[in-house]
Amino acid sequence: MNDFHGFDPQSARRGSLAGVLGLGRSGLSVAKLLAKKGFKVLGSDSRSRADLKKSLKGLPKAMKWEWNGHSDRLLKCAFVVKSPGLKPDLDILRRLAEKKIPVFSELEIALAYSKAKTVVAITGTNGKSTTTALTHDIFKAGLPRGRKTILGGNIGMPISSVAPASKLKDVLIVECSSYQLEDSRHFEPRAAAILNVTADHLDHHGSMDAYLAAKERIFREQGPGDACVFNADDPIVYKLSRACPSTRLYFGAKAPHVHSWEEGGRLHFRLPGWKKTAVLAPPKLPGRHNLENAMAAGLLAFSRGLQPASVQNAFKAFKGVEHRIEPCGTTRGVACFNDSKATNVDSTLVALKAFEPRGRRLLLILGGLHKGASYAPLKPWLEKTVKGVFTIGSAARRIEGDLSGAAHVFPCGDLATAVTTALQIAEKGDVLLLSPACASFDQFADFGDRGRRFKALVKAAGGTM
Ligand code: ADP
Repeated sequence: MNDFHGFDPQSARRGSLAGVLGLGRSGLSVAKLLAKKGFKVLGSDSRSRADLKKSLKGLPKAMKWEWNGHSDRLLKCAFVVKSPGLKPDLDILRRLAEKKIPVFSELEIALAYSKAKTVVAITGTNGKSTTTALTHDIFKAGLPRGRKTILGGNIGMPISSVAPASKLKDVLIVECSSYQLEDSRHFEPRAAAILNVTADHLDHHGSMDAYLAAKERIFREQGPGDACVFNADDPIVYKLSRACPSTRLYFGAKAPHVHSWEEGGRLHFRLPGWKKTAVLAPPKLPGRHNLENAMAAGLLAFSRGLQPASVQNAFKAFKGVEHRIEPCGTTRGVACFNDSKATNVDSTLVALKAFEPRGRRLLLILGGLHKGASYAPLKPWLEKTVKGVFTIGSAARRIEGDLSGAAHVFPCGDLATAVTTALQIAEKGDVLLLSPACASFDQFADFGDRGRRFKALVKAAGGTM
């Protein structure tokens, strides 16, 4: 097996030992795949045996596993697959490198066993899931009969559980986190997109340069027949794009220097060599950020030869992704939106900007588990957009302190009280928004649980779609 050219299923010896570091969703999925392909598998996780037991239930009996840390047994492996969440500076990774044992990403293994020739990959700090879901819908609407689209990666199923069943003509649409990309030596999507880059996840990657190096892997091995889509208005993304060897496609505000832009409420697309500009109505989703997501998805589709009609149909039908500024009913003239995925201040800012054109009509639910950043950057936007802020969870005190003077704050404690209090104050035409800027784990299993609970509360208050 050649260390520098990714995982090669032909030369990896069946029956040899494969290590899987980290037994989360993608780790378990790749462990199953490797066992099915005839490898002996050793799974290894830092969690306790009790914590792991439930998730290990469906695994092949023959698979060995260890808990409470990574032992030297891994040094006997022919190769190791590293789960995306694990930090690159783990001691076991240093020891594997010393022994020259190749370490691959789940993405690489999954694609090595995939028959589909067309891979479309999407990365960025924000907007990945929305853009990936929309891109998937466009390809689904536009591919000829007999060709399927398969969605995977960070969204939906782990890529190693869906890609191996693909056929030659299928299209794989993959949402890639920078963690997945960081561990992929060999990755060559036919079409790729980098939506935006902000200094998120720096604690994991160690430095901005390392984070950018991870993102760059999405295009580094592309060829001239491939394409990569970039956000021209994001200075870091623009700078990154200059190293791209494939056809560069830009979206942004500055027509005609970009290949997609917005004008008069319509999205314009003009790819290199096109004689005419395609002008399409965007999906009905709030915010400039969603126009950017749609421009990126459109460019990805056009770069693979899809027709404007298919893109337009998918835009029309697209309802967004659950928990991302998701409309979830109107009660007594108050429209309610579930943005539970906004687990940090930046995401909440995006939501506030999306509602800015409506003026001061927002009843905003903030709070949950504090993540460390100040809430003060919300202040100028709160002054423009909110009637009241309703706080919940353990971060409430901190939020109230950071926002003092910028908004009328109602300490509510829990989500049910926040919804009831906000709806008592609301007037017809107002908007109730859950965009908490915090993690959810103090009061909920995860952000999905929080969002579903919010939707149930809206429904119980008479909310109808
Ligand atoms: P990701 O998968 O990258 O986390 P999502 O599509 O799930 O992205 O959106 C997460 C949050 O990021 C949403 O709540 C939204 O507020 C914000 N967001 C979505 N698209 C963008 C974008 N293009 N630019 C900035 N923020 C965005």
